[in-house]
Amino acid sequence: MKDRIRLSDGGGGLDSRELVDQIASVLSNPVLSGLEDSAILDGVEGRVAFTTDGFVVKPTFFPGGDIGKLAVCGTLNDLVVMGARPKALSLSLIIEEGFAKKDLMRIVTSIKETAGDTPVVTGDTKVVEHGSADGIFVITAGVGVQLKGANPSASRLTEGDKLIVTGSVGRHGASIMANREELGFSSDLLSDVAYQGDMILPLFESLGADVKVCRDVTRGGMSAILSEFAHSSDVGIEVMEADIPVDPDVKGLCDALGLDPLTLACEGRSLIGVCPGRLDEALEILTGNPLGSGTCQIGEVVADHARMVHLRTIIGGARILEPPAGELLPRIC
Ligand code: MG
Repeated sequence: MKDRIRLSDGGGGLDSRELVDQIASVLSNPVLSGLEDSAILDGVEGRVAFTTDGFVVKPTFFPGGDIGKLAVCGTLNDLVVMGARPKALSLSLIIEEGFAKKDLMRIVTSIKETAGDTPVVTGDTKVVEHGSADGIFVITAGVGVQLKGANPSASRLTEGDKLIVTGSVGRHGASIMANREELGFSSDLLSDVAYQGDMILPLFESLGADVKVCRDVTRGGMSAILSEFAHSSDVGIEVMEADIPVDPDVKGLCDALGLDPLTLACEGRSLIGVCPGRLDEALEILTGNPLGSGTCQIGEVVADHARMVHLRTIIGGARILEPPAGELLPRIC
């Protein structure tokens, strides 16, 4: 049964050597192919950004992506939103015995394609007994170098700063939810999972430290991040519901299931705060990239109600936007 992963594929012997060689040949690059105990990186100088994430998404393959693409995008996006240019990735795979080998190689191929110029320079493969994991879990880490002048932080917002979102929100969460077997309906609602570097890095190159804060919108959605900004910077935030873009298919699913799109994850969007005088330039740079074509201002930092986010609703009222409570949807990323 060589078309399924066996325990011996992770045992450290000949079978596992064969599997590692197959994976390494797909990810192929000079640093990885040495298969040393550590990757040695040349040319990494300056302020180094370093991030890690574990991915357990269910289903493993979903419309618009798969666990491999999600892992690479998630990790690279965490580097670029800090104004850092990605240099290298690590990849650890935890695979359940019996997982289809062709699915594994499809995921590895997707990782290679998504990572583009950023090499996977080190990795690990483990196999656990059937029932001890659910298919495959992927753990990635990324290293990058921060661009000169970039200094984004959730604690740097001050009164008057403008808040921007790079497109419609809630799409990844809605896609995963719509494709969960247990919910009993199927949908081709595509995830927005995407690498954001080509959109975000030019913004840091032009605006430098005038990008006050930048976060990729993931678990907890816009609500979680806005409230984190308000708390970390000790400021009030005001957002206009009518200005927050939500695609009709995402809105339709949210209405049907009673969900708030502002609490759903994205995997290809960022929420950015800039100095007021740089707003037009920021909008021009972001909308100039296809991924950011839907970029718009959604609100600003205000003098009152520190640590609170006020949402001006479409019908003219106001409500306090809270971070989502409890577990909305496990294993979304
Ligand atoms: Mg992030």
